[in-house]
Amino acid sequence: MSFATIAVIGAGTMGRGIAETAAARGLAVILIEINEQQRQTAAAQIARSVEKAIQRGKLTGTDAASVVGRIRWEGELSAATPADFVIEAVSENEPLKIEILKQLDRACRQETILASNTSSISITRLAAATNRPAQVVGMHFFNPVPIMTPVEIVRGLQTSEATVAATIQLAEQLGKQPSVVADSPGFVVNRVLMPLINEAIFALHEGVADAATIDALMRQGCNHPMGPLQLADLVGLDVCLSILRVLHRELGDPKFRPCPLLVRLVDAGRLGKKSGEGFYKY
Ligand code: NAD
Repeated sequence: MSFATIAVIGAGTMGRGIAETAAARGLAVILIEINEQQRQTAAAQIARSVEKAIQRGKLTGTDAASVVGRIRWEGELSAATPADFVIEAVSENEPLKIEILKQLDRACRQETILASNTSSISITRLAAATNRPAQVVGMHFFNPVPIMTPVEIVRGLQTSEATVAATIQLAEQLGKQPSVVADSPGFVVNRVLMPLINEAIFALHEGVADAATIDALMRQGCNHPMGPLQLADLVGLDVCLSILRVLHRELGDPKFRPCPLLVRLVDAGRLGKKSGEGFYKY
């Protein structure tokens, strides 16, 4: 089986990356974004990104106009009806995601699979809000999507084997490397990464070393391409805090408690690269 048309909901950082990746691989994409301004911004970002990929030789055998032309922009969820597979990538807000999945459940054909790109919300809970829990799955991509190859395929309690198999197939069609994981807070990558970042923030908070030294030691001593504080700035400190809070609440283990310095920086609006300042200035 191969997929011809997918719908992507939300054209933020992740949704536009997923849409671009799918269009570059020849799929037709229905990209549904509620915010008109964001539709324009994301369309320009996708066009730029495709041009760059072609110039660098990362994308061959096609031209930018064909890739961009495979993306159909829409503002209403009902436009997802023709899709064989839907990937929801709206903001990390559980009531919003539940409402969107309910509407997609009503709008889409019975056999369509509904996937969520959530980083931390339970796929089992999202699935239970629909009338097709066996066809709801997690598809956790990494940023920037056109470049990063892994995808965590998250099997909810009621997700069927056929859904998991079809999702693996789609991930491979998109040129990704899928790994199937259980529905557990933070899945694998964030569960392992966030305590590392949090511990680096505790080391800074307790004056063990300054930010540049912590990052340099982790790069040189652990062969990490980027230090944990620099990575936290890139991910967004608000995103790190919200994932740590989910891990802390849902796993109940104090080792996940967010460092008070992280909380203070987020309170101050220092969210990392996107706000111009986090542990570093941009
Ligand atoms: P974002 O805030 O950049 O984008 C979300 C987009 O959804 C916005 O453009 C918003 O206008 C749109 N939206 C909201 N409601 C909508 C609706 N009803 N219909 C259509 N569009 C709607 O968020 P993001 O960083 O792209 O994250 C999206 C999802 O991906 C989240 O669940 C997040 O946890 C997950 N995720 C993010 C990253 C990352 O590094 N940013 C990595 C992996 C997974």
